[in-house]
Amino acid sequence: EDEVHIIGSVLDLRDKPVSKVMTPIQDVFTLTMDDILDKETVDKILFHGYSRIPICAPEDQSNFFGMLLVKQLITYDVEDALPVRCFNLGILPETSPDTSCLDILNFFQEGKSHLALLSSNPGGVGGALGVITLEDVIEELIGEE
Ligand code: ATP
Ligand code: ATP
Repeated sequence: EDEVHIIGSVLDLRDKPVSKVMTPIQDVFTLTMDDILDKETVDKILFHGYSRIPICAPEDQSNFFGMLLVKQLITYDVEDALPVRCFNLGILPETSPDTSCLDILNFFQEGKSHLALLSSNPGGVGGALGVITLEDVIEELIGEE
């Protein structure tokens, strides 16, 4: 019965747009290029607990440049108080909210990223609608409904 449920869920992924399972942008923990990684900000990052933090422009919070990978901070000294722009940001792939969950799963499986930005203007300026991670898709497959 569980097997049947999972197979049914896999088939459903083809027809389900990522917009249905994304985390909406207003709920996403982000930083700007100009934010200073001092103790206060790093404590905030640790408090939120996410591994990937999308980074936007200070003047336009719907315009994203990449993501800060929190594990980079293992060797970082908060006394240096550097702005986010001094870090090597990870690539933040962008796609349309109409992308199917199956397509995004295949993309994640290719191993380039485990988080993507959903945008009404993918590859262009602005238009951020939310983020989706591998976890969100897996949740659709095997999560409690
Ligand atoms: P990992 O498990 O690899 O450490 P994580 O715990 O940071 O990563 P995921 O497990 O990929 O995050 O995702 C868990 C949930 O959190 C998903 O619903 C995802 O959309 C959401 N999420 C991921 N990053 C953020 C973020 N920066 N702000 C808000 N929500 C996020
Ligand atoms: P993330 O992608 O969330 O940063 P990660 O890259 O550390 O996590 P996973 O993507 O979960 O690790 O796993 C990738 C592969 O590395 C898996 O085959 C897993 O078993 C293996 N792996 C994970 N942690 C370790 C570790 N500490 N030592 C050796 N292999 C590991």
